[in-house]
Amino acid sequence: MSSPFHDLYDRQMRLPGHGEVGQQRLRDAKVLLVGVGGLGSPAALYLAAAGVGTLGIADPDTVELSNLHRQILHSTDTLGAPKTVSAAETLSTLNPALHITLHPEGIQADNALELIKRYDVVVDGADNFATRFLVADACGLAGKPLVHGSVLKGEGQVGVFLPKSGCYRCLYPVMPDPATVPTCGEAGVLGATCGVIGSWMAAETVAILLKQRTASKLLLIDVAGGSSKSLGLSADAHCPLCGSAPTIVSINPNRYTFACSSKIMSEAPLEISVEDARRLLSQNNPPILVDVREADELAICQIAGAQHIPLSEIPERWSGLSAHASVLVICHHGGRSMRATQFLRSKGLSGVTNIKGGIDAWALKIDPKLARY
Ligand SMILES: [Zn+2]
Repeated sequence: MSSPFHDLYDRQMRLPGHGEVGQQRLRDAKVLLVGVGGLGSPAALYLAAAGVGTLGIADPDTVELSNLHRQILHSTDTLGAPKTVSAAETLSTLNPALHITLHPEGIQADNALELIKRYDVVVDGADNFATRFLVADACGLAGKPLVHGSVLKGEGQVGVFLPKSGCYRCLYPVMPDPATVPTCGEAGVLGATCGVIGSWMAAETVAILLKQRTASKLLLIDVAGGSSKSLGLSADAHCPLCGSAPTIVSINPNRYTFACSSKIMSEAPLEISVEDARRLLSQNNPPILVDVREADELAICQIAGAQHIPLSEIPERWSGLSAHASVLVICHHGGRSMRATQFLRSKGLSGVTNIKGGIDAWALKIDPKLARY
């Protein structure tokens, strides 16, 4: 017996692993869309059309003319309207059975965790790093699958992050300086490129809901060049979010810089050369230098004036460093000091910088009298 429900979804229910059971899974599912712009638009349209039962829409923006070449949920009829409202109008016409929940305040540090806990899968098409990292952290803490997408010029990526299988922070432990990364507004993007990435995000979301995904992965898609590749991910034991000794155990608003770009621009570089470090240390108001090696290593060689905090003691003693606007971290070759730098930055200390190559590079390039080991 054919029913309107059956007719509507017949072509996808024929697919292997879908059927009536799969369709019911989609109908029972709740998916949160973070952003209904260039990526969220096609993702939302395909999820609504596929029969996902509930879509949450979090987006604080309004529809602008410059959005319309890629944000195909919206139209000239809804210029100036909140994107949540504009999106809901389009989606409910496409699928009147869809249940839509609007979150016009968008994802913020104070609502992210509570919001994400209400959904089964989160689809992140946000256009800024602060929101991406906030959403990734909240998904990790709440144990929710995350489908992430981003696009720049003719290329994009889709990340599928399943609980305990490798998270966004395994891939990107520290939020990059947004000032170093061009946005679509600056670099330009073709609408159809967003369509490819957003549609791929919808396909991965449906696959997760149908229990067809068991591992995290990253898809790199060169739309302009006509190629794509899939990289398998695995959980990193040192990950600040999902590792064995996580440093991100709650949503700390200070960790996500939503402030104006001038504040972002002032963030110190993540890593500098020994030459740049020496220049900074010899200026009038020098940064504090922290050596995170062990005591027996310091006995071999050290830089005068450095404060000694072994890496293992950083988690207990880091708060004393928060009084300093600028901190340089050094170790033997730069590995341990980078871990310390990432830890300190995860605590909101944005003025912490790693010294590349460690004290060994210092001995080679700055002070040949230092003993090497
Ligand atoms: Zn992780």
